[in-house]
Amino acid sequence: MHRRQFLGLAALAAGGAGAMRLTDLDQVSRDLGRGPVMPSVFIGHGSPMNAIQDNAFTRSLARLGRRLDRPKAVLVVSAHWLTPGRTMVALSPAPETIHDFGGFPDELFQVRYPAPGAPEAARKAAAAVTSVQVHEDHEMGLDHGAWSVLKHIWPAADVPVFQMSLNWGMTPAEHHALSHQLKALRNDGILVLGSGNVVHNLGRLNWSDPSAPPFDWAQEFDAFVGERLAAGDHQALVDYTSLGAVARLAHPTNDHYLPLLYTLGTAGFDEPLTELHSGLEMGSISMRSFMLGPG
Ligand code: ZN
Repeated sequence: MHRRQFLGLAALAAGGAGAMRLTDLDQVSRDLGRGPVMPSVFIGHGSPMNAIQDNAFTRSLARLGRRLDRPKAVLVVSAHWLTPGRTMVALSPAPETIHDFGGFPDELFQVRYPAPGAPEAARKAAAAVTSVQVHEDHEMGLDHGAWSVLKHIWPAADVPVFQMSLNWGMTPAEHHALSHQLKALRNDGILVLGSGNVVHNLGRLNWSDPSAPPFDWAQEFDAFVGERLAAGDHQALVDYTSLGAVARLAHPTNDHYLPLLYTLGTAGFDEPLTELHSGLEMGSISMRSFMLGPG
C-alpha cells in the first residue's frame, strides 16, 4: 500500500473525521475519484529565456514537478493574458504555444509546449465564479508566463492545462474575491498556478548585468511580501498599494502582481507555506516563488 494511503486510512480509523488532516482529506478525495488535493502555487517567471536555461530557478521548478502529485489539470493565471473589462477562460483542447515577446534568440521561438487543454475543467472553473460572468475563449493558446514554467515542471507536457485571464479593470480586492471562488477546484485535483513576479519594473531593469544589486525599494517590497506570506497576512498583500511609493516602484503596472492574488485567494491563510525559490535579478525583478497547501 502507498505510504500516504496507509497514513490516511490509519488516521481515519484512529481519529474519525474530527481528527482529519490534509493527508486524510487527500485520501478521501481520491476515494471519491476526484484526484488528489492540490496546492496553490505562485511562480515568479522572470525572463522568457528561463524557458531554455538551466539555472537555480529552473531547477527549482523541476524539483517542484518531481515532488507534486500529478494534477488532473492545471489552471494558470498569467501576467500575460490581460483582457480589459472581462474575465475569460480558455477552452482550446490543444492550446498553441504563443511566443508573445520580441528580441530574443530564435531558439526560444522554436520552443513548443504541446500540453493538452482541459475544456471540462475550464468550464467547471467558469461555473465556480459567481461574482462576474466568465466568458469562454476558444482561440487562446498558452502564453509564455504559462509554458516557460510548465516546461520545467512537467517537461513531458502531458498534464492538461488551461488559462483564465486577468480582467484588466478590476481592483486587487476584486481579483482576490474572484479567485476565492476557485478554491474548491483544488479538491478536484486541479492545481492553481499564478505566474507573475513579486517585483516587476521593466523600466528600471539592468539589462547589462543580471546579477546587479537590487534597488532598495525592490528589496523592501520583496521582503514585505515574504514577511506577510509567512505571517499568513493575505489581507496586507491584497492591500499592497498602502505601501505607497515602494509599491508603485515595485509595480508601475500591476499585471505581474495580480497572479499572486489568485494563489492567495485559492488558499487558506493558515495553509503550510513552502518557499520554492527567491532572489532578485537585474535590479528590479523578484523571482520569489512559493506554494501554499499540501505538496
Ligand atoms: Zn512576464
